Amino acid sequence: MFTDSHCHLSFPELSANLPDILNAMSQAQVDRALCICTTLEEFEAVHALSRDHANLWSTVGVHPDNEGVTEPSMDDLLQRAALPRVVGIGETGLDYYRLNGRSVADMEWQRERFRVHIRAGRQTDLPLVIHTRSASDDTLAILKEEGGFAGGGAQVVSRGVFHCFTETEAVARAALDLDFMISFSGILTFRNAADLREVARFVPLDRMLIETDSPYLAPVPYRGKTNNPSFVPFVARQIAEIKGLAVEAVAKATSENFDRLFNRVVSSS
Ligand SMILES: [Zn+2]
Ligand SMILES: [Zn+2]
Repeated sequence: MFTDSHCHLSFPELSANLPDILNAMSQAQVDRALCICTTLEEFEAVHALSRDHANLWSTVGVHPDNEGVTEPSMDDLLQRAALPRVVGIGETGLDYYRLNGRSVADMEWQRERFRVHIRAGRQTDLPLVIHTRSASDDTLAILKEEGGFAGGGAQVVSRGVFHCFTETEAVARAALDLDFMISFSGILTFRNAADLREVARFVPLDRMLIETDSPYLAPVPYRGKTNNPSFVPFVARQIAEIKGLAVEAVAKATSENFDRLFNRVVSSS
């Protein structure tokens, strides 16, 4: 019934308990999850999860926060994106939250890395999983520059999702205008997230995904604990409450949206 569009089951907190987590997912009717890659070094483990389990899929990408790791070339991304069970490019994007004494100008390496991912997304026609934090203007600007939106004709334009959305309604509108989807995490259930709940009210149901971003950001009532995909129904329940819908309707819509965006999931099921 539910689909977790973004989790990190390869991280040690979760991979050590995989059988329990898969069992908890099935108990909670979380039928499927997308395992997100954050370094090339990690890719093999992420991909193995999707090869070994019929209800897990994987992505390839290098997270903007990761330094001192292999810098991905187009070829690195394209080769791995061609493998079975890989259904998206990311997570990629920009994160200026922890500059550690540097200026935004110093972060050109992040912007260049993001551009490589966008080009790989277009080349493969796979959706981008975008991470943006304290950097929404540059994220949108680079996406517009590289995304091919103004090109017209038959060329492939960027598509994807802004994951773990914590930005304003204006940023949500800009993402929707580019035909991107918006994914909400357990943050939506936090007491201090009233503004974000207003953004969720604004985003149309047919453009939303739900996610855990586990092992981080466990939703209320598990806030502060280790998160896992079986908690994604709490995000769906929060959206159902905000929009005055049954949770089943939110589960169905977000799963259908997931299939529409990550269309390689459907063809490989
Ligand atoms: Zn992220
Ligand atoms: Zn993530």
